Amino acid sequence: KDPERANNSDKNMLVTIRVRPLTQQEISNKVLHIVNVDDKLLIVRDKAEIKYEQEGIKPDVLHRSREQRYYFDKIFKDSSQSEVYENTCKQLIDPVTKGFNACVFAYGTTGSGKTYTMIGTKENPGNSVLIIDDMFDTISKDEEFQYEIKISYVEIYNEIIRDLLVVKSKDTYLDLRDDPIKGVQIAGVKEFKVTNSTEVMKLLTEGNRRRTTEATNANQTSSRSHAIFQIHVHKKEKTADTEKEILAGKLSLIDLAGSERGTVTENTGIRLREGAKINTSLLALANCINALGDKTKKGFYVSYRDSKLTRMLKDSLGGNCKTVMIATISPGHNQFEETINTLKYANRAK
Ligand code: ADP
Ligand code: MG
Repeated sequence: KDPERANNSDKNMLVTIRVRPLTQQEISNKVLHIVNVDDKLLIVRDKAEIKYEQEGIKPDVLHRSREQRYYFDKIFKDSSQSEVYENTCKQLIDPVTKGFNACVFAYGTTGSGKTYTMIGTKENPGNSVLIIDDMFDTISKDEEFQYEIKISYVEIYNEIIRDLLVVKSKDTYLDLRDDPIKGVQIAGVKEFKVTNSTEVMKLLTEGNRRRTTEATNANQTSSRSHAIFQIHVHKKEKTADTEKEILAGKLSLIDLAGSERGTVTENTGIRLREGAKINTSLLALANCINALGDKTKKGFYVSYRDSKLTRMLKDSLGGNCKTVMIATISPGHNQFEETINTLKYANRAK
């Protein structure tokens, strides 16, 4: 089967939304909470409408409500890290330990909660950390196979791949290789053998500090890099006397670059160019995901080559691979447009 041809078993795609709470600063700045959730329905209310309601004014009949409604597989609001994990990444342990590849994406604007969802804090660890202990628990119960878990963590910034687990990797760029047996490989990437989630939390926190983040007009720090954390599961039969290894699955957990558009921050010069490149990667990803999910276009060509991100994930998107998207949004009225953009992006992926 040609891996570049879209596959139609669309249940391989789970699209979820996570609404973060308002921050203390937003609350003291009187930011209005405009996101309501009713099971699988998410409603974004218009600021004007809430003002009318608060002031007891009956809106002009000609005033068109900007309230927007969207349906998703699962919506998280006031949800704990473990609740999000249990309903998203946990279900990927089984396929990945059985030899399939899978992807998890955190998509959203800067400050909407992507990194919190994927890495979290020591007190409240996120998906990438929670899945490790669970995975070790699962493989320790396997009587037939023995496993080795390795992790890697890279960023794509300006279409350049850098290792986030290597000190002073600023000047060392990594290349992608297509291996007919092993799939897509990042040549020369550092892979750490890990045995527990504490080690992983430490590596991810260190790696995250090396991510390229710079100030823009709209945000104090705006992450323009995509961070890709990969869990490589290698396994072999316990009884086999050969050293022959069965390469099992690979799980990619991706903290995407901020989805805010370049125009919002009035970027100029280098910033604008970077913004354009990031849009290229996000667009390429959207195009791939759309093509994979489009039931009407059987065999539609998926162009993985359009960006480093999609090339890296070529063997992990489509086919039998499971994909989870967690689109993160802020509930504040000042993020109305960005929230709608995120919901539209996620909606297209369904
Ligand atoms: P992003 O990575 O999308 O730029 P962050 O994950 O850094 O955003 O989140 C921005 C801020 O909001 C951080 O201070 C983070 O701790 C907080 N935050 C994000 N999501 C949540 C959540 N679900 N619950 C509590 N705090 C959150
Ligand atoms: Mg972040």
